[in-house]
Amino acid sequence: MDDTPDNHPAGSDDAHTRPGTGPRPPDGEGSGPDDEGHDHAVVLGAGPAGLLTARVLAGYFPRVTVLERDGLPDDGPGFRPGVPQSRHVHVLWSRGIEVMERLLPGITAELTGAGAVLLESPRDFLWLSPADWFQPVPGARMLVGSRQLLDWTLRRAVRRDRRIEVLGGRAVTGLVAGPDRRAVTGVTLRDRAPLAARLVVDATGRTSKAPAWLAALGYPAPEVTRYDSHLGYASRAYAPPEAPQAGPVARRWRGMYVQGRPESPRGGVLVPQEDGSWLVTLLGNGEHVPPTRDPEFLEFARSLRSPALYEAIRDAEPLSEPTGFRATANEWRHYERMDRWPEGLLVVGDAACRFNPVYGHGMSVAAGAAHALDSALAGLPAHRVPAEARALQRRTAEAAAVAWQIATSEDLRYPWTEGPPPDRATRVLQRYMSRVMAGANTDPAISGPFFGVLSLSAPPNTLLAPGTVLRVLSKWRLPTAPDAPPYPPHHAG
Ligand SMILES: Cc1cc2nc3c(=O)[nH]c(=O)nc-3n(C[C@H](O)[C@H](O)[C@H](O)COP(=O)(O)OP(=O)(O)OC[C@H]3O[C@@H](n4cnc5c(N)ncnc54)[C@H](O)[C@@H]3O)c2cc1C
Repeated sequence: MDDTPDNHPAGSDDAHTRPGTGPRPPDGEGSGPDDEGHDHAVVLGAGPAGLLTARVLAGYFPRVTVLERDGLPDDGPGFRPGVPQSRHVHVLWSRGIEVMERLLPGITAELTGAGAVLLESPRDFLWLSPADWFQPVPGARMLVGSRQLLDWTLRRAVRRDRRIEVLGGRAVTGLVAGPDRRAVTGVTLRDRAPLAARLVVDATGRTSKAPAWLAALGYPAPEVTRYDSHLGYASRAYAPPEAPQAGPVARRWRGMYVQGRPESPRGGVLVPQEDGSWLVTLLGNGEHVPPTRDPEFLEFARSLRSPALYEAIRDAEPLSEPTGFRATANEWRHYERMDRWPEGLLVVGDAACRFNPVYGHGMSVAAGAAHALDSALAGLPAHRVPAEARALQRRTAEAAAVAWQIATSEDLRYPWTEGPPPDRATRVLQRYMSRVMAGANTDPAISGPFFGVLSLSAPPNTLLAPGTVLRVLSKWRLPTAPDAPPYPPHHAG
């Protein structure tokens, strides 16, 4: 495939001299038009947070360099060791779609053109919530496809901006600071010369070394809030079998989500991929962590609250071995609360705040932070940006708040979740949300606001609008029914 929209030499991710950017030193590093990095922003990590941040910064800095540790093959989407989570189901909620489209117009069409699928959720899904099956009520858009396709398409789109250079094979090892250590002025790299920059953005994801890098400059460790529900993932690709035309297993769905709940903490998701395969992720907490061996993987699928997912994959041909993922805790490194913060540094994306992935929010939050950064930078000349780093850190952190509230309050329903206990407001929220979820299963007047908030497209107070509150509280039925029917009634053959 061609990853050379602006004539990058194919097959190489090393330095590209791009027309229109003037002379550039080899590898974009070392000496050059601006040795001190005054016109230069450097972003660490070429995941969604790094790429979208680079796109925003290109509106303010004449030169933006993205440094990625992994090699970045130009010949199409592929697995990268730096993104191990890409072997598991990734959905992009509508908030993420909206922001990416705003920053990179046409990206959605590019993704769907490459086979990614835009779904209306729950209409296109068989979705068993903790309460019951969702009817085909109004919901929210989501984009599904492989994480590899998403990353590669984003990278290609970002590279079309000639102010941005994305370099693979660049492992960042630390920060460079001025003599008084009040300002970050660049980064050090493994086996390469340091690189100067006026602004450094750490978007290196969940393995970010920012606390150690800051400590080396004499800054204290950030406060950390952590909630761990001990959720484990196991995922496997399948070739879909011939679809029966009738009966309960007739395929009138594009994807499937069987959610667990505290008394039965096992679940599973099935989504289509761009190559026509299915990616199936099984989920379970604590001792219910799903297996990564045959035939236990299939047996686990059989043990979910509905047989729907098991019956879908029972006769499907596996295309990969099951692969697991365990580090799913919510963890917020509160850089935004630090008393001292160097000029010229920002930490964004999973590097600052990561979530239990089961809610599908990480990439949309990264996009939301890029959007917040764009709004905060509006009208600010590049030379003033470094001094605003602390305010910018706060603004981007705010983008994580709603997803954090959703993930942690839902995780706290599981009694074994480790973390600060729920306060009164959280307990009230949990009770209200139980009714909302039960109502959203069948009532379009509740499902619309519910999915608006869940997809991060609408603010949480949407669920507190007087009409919605009345509707929610009028529901007499709470989600206490132990057994849901095996298939949703609207799906009976
Ligand atoms: C199992 C699982 C399933 C998930 N499912 C979803 C989902 O359905 N929907 C959703 O929105 N989110 C999901 N997430 C969350 C999502 O994967 C992350 O929120 C998202 O990847 C964060 O993007 P990022 O750019 O901050 O970090 P990453 O995507 O992790 O990118 C960080 C990049 O930095 C690079 N890097 C690391 N160290 C260095 C270094 N020293 N120097 C240079 N480069 C470096 C890495 O190689 C990597 O490319 C899931 C997460 C997991 C674990």
